[in-house]
Amino acid sequence: MWVDSHVNLHGEKFAEDLPEVIAKARHADVRTMLTICCKLSEFDQVLAVAQSHKDIYCSVGTHPHEAKDNPDIMAADLLAHIHHPEVIGIGETGLDFHYNYSDEDVQYANFRAHISASRESQLPLIIHSRNADAQMAQILEEEHDKGVFPHLLHCYTGGAELARRSAALGGYISLSGILTFNSAKDIRALVPGLPEDRILIETDCPYLAPMPYRGRRCEPHMVVETGKKLAEIKGWSLAETQARTTDAFFRLFSKAQRPAKASHE
Ligand SMILES: [Zn+2]
Repeated sequence: MWVDSHVNLHGEKFAEDLPEVIAKARHADVRTMLTICCKLSEFDQVLAVAQSHKDIYCSVGTHPHEAKDNPDIMAADLLAHIHHPEVIGIGETGLDFHYNYSDEDVQYANFRAHISASRESQLPLIIHSRNADAQMAQILEEEHDKGVFPHLLHCYTGGAELARRSAALGGYISLSGILTFNSAKDIRALVPGLPEDRILIETDCPYLAPMPYRGRRCEPHMVVETGKKLAEIKGWSLAETQARTTDAFFRLFSKAQRPAKASHE
Protein backbone atom coordinates (compact mmCIF):
# COMPACT_ATOMS: atom_id res chain seq x y z
CA MET A 1 0.00 0.00 0.00
CA TRP A 2 0.90 3.66 -0.46
CA VAL A 3 0.26 6.52 1.95
CA ASP A 4 -0.52 10.05 0.79
CA SER A 5 0.79 12.03 3.74
CA HIS A 6 -0.67 15.42 2.74
CA VAL A 7 -4.01 15.96 1.00
CA ASN A 8 -6.52 18.81 1.06
CA LEU A 9 -9.83 17.05 0.49
CA HIS A 10 -12.38 19.27 2.22
CA GLY A 11 -12.38 22.18 -0.23
CA GLU A 12 -14.51 23.04 -3.21
CA LYS A 13 -12.10 21.39 -5.67
CA PHE A 14 -13.36 18.00 -4.51
CA ALA A 15 -16.89 19.01 -3.54
CA GLU A 16 -18.42 17.42 -6.64
CA ASP A 17 -16.71 14.04 -6.72
CA LEU A 18 -14.88 13.22 -3.49
CA PRO A 19 -16.16 9.62 -3.32
CA GLU A 20 -14.86 8.94 -6.85
CA VAL A 21 -11.53 10.58 -6.06
CA ILE A 22 -11.13 8.37 -3.00
CA ALA A 23 -12.20 5.25 -4.90
CA LYS A 24 -9.59 5.98 -7.55
CA ALA A 25 -6.94 6.29 -4.84
CA ARG A 26 -7.95 2.95 -3.31
CA HIS A 27 -7.77 1.36 -6.73
CA ALA A 28 -4.15 2.57 -6.99
CA ASP A 29 -3.50 1.06 -3.54
CA VAL A 30 -3.29 4.48 -1.86
CA ARG A 31 -4.87 3.54 1.44
CA THR A 32 -4.05 5.91 4.26
CA MET A 33 -4.28 9.68 3.75
CA LEU A 34 -3.77 12.67 5.99
CA THR A 35 -6.08 15.55 5.13
CA ILE A 36 -4.81 18.89 6.32
CA CYS A 37 -6.39 21.72 8.27
CA CYS A 38 -5.09 25.10 7.05
CA LYS A 39 -7.62 27.30 8.81
CA LEU A 40 -8.93 26.71 12.28
CA SER A 41 -12.32 28.00 11.11
CA GLU A 42 -12.49 25.06 8.67
CA PHE A 43 -11.49 22.39 11.17
CA ASP A 44 -15.01 20.94 11.42
CA GLN A 45 -15.16 20.40 7.65
CA VAL A 46 -11.73 18.78 7.62
CA LEU A 47 -12.64 16.53 10.55
CA ALA A 48 -15.88 15.53 8.83
CA VAL A 49 -13.93 14.19 5.83
CA ALA A 50 -11.76 12.10 8.14
CA GLN A 51 -14.71 10.88 10.17
CA SER A 52 -16.66 9.75 7.15
CA HIS A 53 -13.87 7.75 5.45
CA LYS A 54 -11.89 4.83 6.71
CA ASP A 55 -8.12 5.32 6.86
CA ILE A 56 -8.32 9.07 6.34
CA TYR A 57 -6.91 11.10 9.19
CA CYS A 58 -6.65 14.85 9.72
CA SER A 59 -4.63 17.56 11.41
CA VAL A 60 -5.53 20.71 13.31
CA GLY A 61 -3.79 24.00 12.60
CA THR A 62 -3.48 27.29 10.78
CA HIS A 63 -1.26 27.73 7.73
CA PRO A 64 1.23 30.63 7.80
CA HIS A 65 -0.77 32.22 4.96
CA GLU A 66 -3.79 32.30 7.28
CA ALA A 67 -1.93 33.20 10.48
CA LYS A 68 -3.29 36.73 10.19
CA ASP A 69 -6.81 35.38 10.81
CA ASN A 70 -5.79 33.85 14.17
CA PRO A 71 -3.12 36.26 15.39
CA ASP A 72 -3.61 35.34 19.05
CA ILE A 73 -3.81 31.60 18.65
CA MET A 74 -2.66 29.60 21.69
CA ALA A 75 -1.56 26.01 21.98
CA ALA A 76 -4.76 25.36 23.94
CA ASP A 77 -6.88 26.34 20.91
CA LEU A 78 -5.25 23.48 19.00
CA LEU A 79 -5.11 20.99 21.85
CA ALA A 80 -8.87 21.41 22.32
CA HIS A 81 -9.36 19.24 19.22
CA ILE A 82 -6.88 16.41 19.62
CA HIS A 83 -9.22 14.13 21.57
CA HIS A 84 -10.73 13.05 18.24
CA PRO A 85 -9.13 9.75 17.22
CA GLU A 86 -8.87 11.07 13.63
CA VAL A 87 -6.61 14.00 14.61
CA ILE A 88 -3.02 12.76 14.35
CA GLY A 89 -0.93 15.90 13.70
CA ILE A 90 -0.55 19.61 14.47
CA GLY A 91 -0.49 21.93 11.45
CA GLU A 92 -0.15 22.89 8.77
CA THR A 93 2.03 25.57 10.25
CA GLY A 94 5.38 27.16 9.56
CA LEU A 95 6.95 30.15 7.87
CA ASP A 96 6.40 31.50 4.36
CA PHE A 97 8.55 34.48 3.47
CA HIS A 98 7.92 34.02 -0.25
CA TYR A 99 4.29 35.11 -0.31
CA ASN A 100 4.27 36.91 3.08
CA TYR A 101 0.47 36.79 3.23
CA SER A 102 0.82 37.24 6.99
CA ASP A 103 3.32 39.55 8.73
CA GLU A 104 6.52 37.90 9.87
CA ASP A 105 5.92 38.48 13.58
CA VAL A 106 2.43 37.02 13.29
CA GLN A 107 3.85 33.96 11.50
CA TYR A 108 6.45 33.44 14.23
CA ALA A 109 3.90 33.71 17.05
CA ASN A 110 1.54 31.36 15.24
CA PHE A 111 4.31 28.84 14.57
CA ARG A 112 5.47 28.88 18.20
CA ALA A 113 1.93 28.20 19.42
CA HIS A 114 1.79 25.15 17.14
CA ILE A 115 5.18 24.00 18.40
CA SER A 116 3.95 24.21 22.00
CA ALA A 117 0.90 22.14 21.09
CA SER A 118 3.10 19.55 19.41
CA ARG A 119 5.52 19.41 22.33
CA GLU A 120 2.70 18.98 24.81
CA SER A 121 0.75 16.38 22.81
CA GLN A 122 3.74 14.76 21.07
CA LEU A 123 1.63 14.79 17.89
CA PRO A 124 3.90 15.58 14.92
CA LEU A 125 4.17 19.13 13.70
CA ILE A 126 3.40 19.42 9.97
CA ILE A 127 5.60 22.23 8.69
CA HIS A 128 5.42 24.44 5.63
CA SER A 129 8.65 26.34 5.00
CA ARG A 130 9.23 28.60 2.04
CA ASN A 131 12.11 31.06 1.63
CA ALA A 132 12.78 30.62 5.32
CA ASP A 133 15.49 27.95 5.58
CA ALA A 134 17.77 29.73 8.05
CA GLN A 135 14.95 31.02 10.25
CA MET A 136 13.24 27.62 10.23
CA ALA A 137 16.39 25.73 11.23
CA GLN A 138 17.07 28.21 14.00
CA ILE A 139 13.58 28.16 15.48
CA LEU A 140 13.44 24.34 15.37
CA GLU A 141 16.76 24.11 17.24
CA GLU A 142 15.80 26.80 19.75
CA GLU A 143 12.46 25.19 20.49
CA HIS A 144 13.98 21.71 20.73
CA ASP A 145 16.17 23.00 23.53
CA LYS A 146 12.98 23.68 25.52
CA GLY A 147 11.68 20.14 24.95
CA VAL A 148 11.53 17.76 22.02
CA PHE A 149 8.67 17.36 19.57
CA PRO A 150 8.33 15.26 16.38
CA HIS A 151 8.24 17.17 13.11
CA LEU A 152 7.74 16.80 9.36
CA LEU A 153 8.90 19.25 6.69
CA HIS A 154 6.17 18.81 4.11
CA CYS A 155 6.44 19.35 0.34
CA TYR A 156 10.14 19.94 0.79
CA THR A 157 11.69 22.57 -1.47
CA GLY A 158 14.37 23.89 0.88
CA GLY A 159 18.12 23.44 0.78
CA ALA A 160 20.53 20.80 2.05
CA GLU A 161 21.40 22.75 5.19
CA LEU A 162 17.83 22.90 6.54
CA ALA A 163 17.33 19.23 5.65
CA ARG A 164 20.49 18.34 7.57
CA ARG A 165 19.65 20.44 10.65
CA SER A 166 16.08 19.12 10.73
CA ALA A 167 17.31 15.52 10.41
CA ALA A 168 19.71 16.10 13.31
CA LEU A 169 16.63 16.85 15.44
CA GLY A 170 14.95 13.63 14.32
CA GLY A 171 12.85 15.36 11.65
CA TYR A 172 11.12 13.65 8.74
CA ILE A 173 10.78 15.02 5.19
CA SER A 174 7.90 14.63 2.77
CA LEU A 175 8.43 14.83 -0.99
CA SER A 176 5.65 15.96 -3.29
CA GLY A 177 5.01 15.76 -7.04
CA ILE A 178 7.62 18.48 -7.44
CA LEU A 179 10.14 15.62 -7.31
CA THR A 180 8.99 14.61 -10.81
CA PHE A 181 9.28 18.07 -12.37
CA ASN A 182 12.10 18.59 -14.86
CA SER A 183 13.05 21.79 -13.07
CA ALA A 184 13.45 20.09 -9.67
CA LYS A 185 17.07 18.97 -10.04
CA ASP A 186 18.01 20.51 -6.68
CA ILE A 187 15.39 18.51 -4.81
CA ARG A 188 16.36 15.26 -6.53
CA ALA A 189 20.01 15.98 -5.68
CA LEU A 190 19.08 16.18 -1.96
CA VAL A 191 17.38 12.82 -1.81
CA PRO A 192 20.49 10.61 -1.51
CA GLY A 193 21.48 12.57 1.62
CA LEU A 194 18.17 12.14 3.48
CA PRO A 195 17.85 9.54 6.26
CA GLU A 196 16.36 6.54 4.40
CA ASP A 197 13.84 5.65 7.08
CA ARG A 198 12.46 9.18 7.40
CA ILE A 199 11.16 9.96 3.89
CA LEU A 200 7.41 10.34 3.27
CA ILE A 201 5.58 11.10 0.04
CA GLU A 202 2.53 13.25 -0.60
CA THR A 203 0.50 14.87 -3.34
CA ASP A 204 -0.56 18.10 -1.55
CA CYS A 205 -3.62 17.69 -3.80
CA PRO A 206 -5.44 19.49 -5.40
CA TYR A 207 -2.15 21.34 -6.06
CA LEU A 208 1.09 20.23 -7.71
CA ALA A 209 0.07 17.28 -9.87
CA PRO A 210 3.18 15.22 -10.65
CA MET A 211 4.33 14.33 -14.14
CA PRO A 212 2.66 13.09 -16.35
CA TYR A 213 -0.43 14.79 -14.89
CA ARG A 214 1.10 18.24 -14.52
CA GLY A 215 -1.43 21.04 -15.03
CA ARG A 216 -4.40 18.87 -14.09
CA ARG A 217 -6.20 18.80 -10.74
CA CYS A 218 -3.99 16.74 -8.49
CA GLU A 219 -5.57 13.69 -6.82
CA PRO A 220 -4.28 11.26 -4.18
CA HIS A 221 -3.85 8.35 -6.62
CA MET A 222 -1.07 10.39 -8.26
CA VAL A 223 1.19 9.93 -5.23
CA VAL A 224 2.29 6.72 -6.96
CA GLU A 225 4.19 8.85 -9.53
CA THR A 226 6.20 10.50 -6.76
CA GLY A 227 6.83 7.05 -5.28
CA LYS A 228 8.13 5.82 -8.64
CA LYS A 229 10.48 8.78 -8.95
CA LEU A 230 11.76 8.22 -5.41
CA ALA A 231 12.32 4.53 -6.24
CA GLU A 232 14.30 5.51 -9.34
CA ILE A 233 16.51 7.98 -7.47
CA LYS A 234 17.19 5.62 -4.58
CA GLY A 235 17.52 2.45 -6.64
CA TRP A 236 14.76 0.85 -4.57
CA SER A 237 12.11 -1.48 -5.97
CA LEU A 238 8.55 -0.16 -5.91
CA ALA A 239 7.69 -2.62 -3.15
CA GLU A 240 10.60 -1.42 -1.06
CA THR A 241 9.63 2.21 -1.67
CA GLN A 242 6.05 1.49 -0.58
CA ALA A 243 7.24 -0.31 2.53
CA ARG A 244 9.78 2.33 3.53
CA THR A 245 7.55 5.36 3.02
CA THR A 246 4.57 3.62 4.65
CA ASP A 247 6.63 2.52 7.65
CA ALA A 248 8.01 6.04 7.99
CA PHE A 249 4.51 7.49 8.01
CA PHE A 250 3.23 5.18 10.74
CA ARG A 251 6.40 5.57 12.81
CA LEU A 252 6.01 9.35 12.77
CA PHE A 253 2.22 9.52 13.01
CA SER A 254 2.02 6.85 15.67
CA LYS A 255 -1.58 7.70 16.55
CA ALA A 256 -2.74 6.44 13.12
CA GLN A 257 -3.69 2.78 12.73
CA ARG A 258 -2.37 0.70 9.88
CA PRO A 259 -5.24 -0.50 7.69
CA ALA A 260 -6.14 -4.16 7.88
CA LYS A 261 -4.43 -6.06 5.04
CA ALA A 262 -6.13 -6.24 1.64
CA SER A 263 -9.49 -4.86 2.70
CA HIS A 264 -10.76 -2.42 0.10
CA GLU A 265 -13.56 0.02 0.68
ZN1 LIG B 1 2.37 23.72 2.55
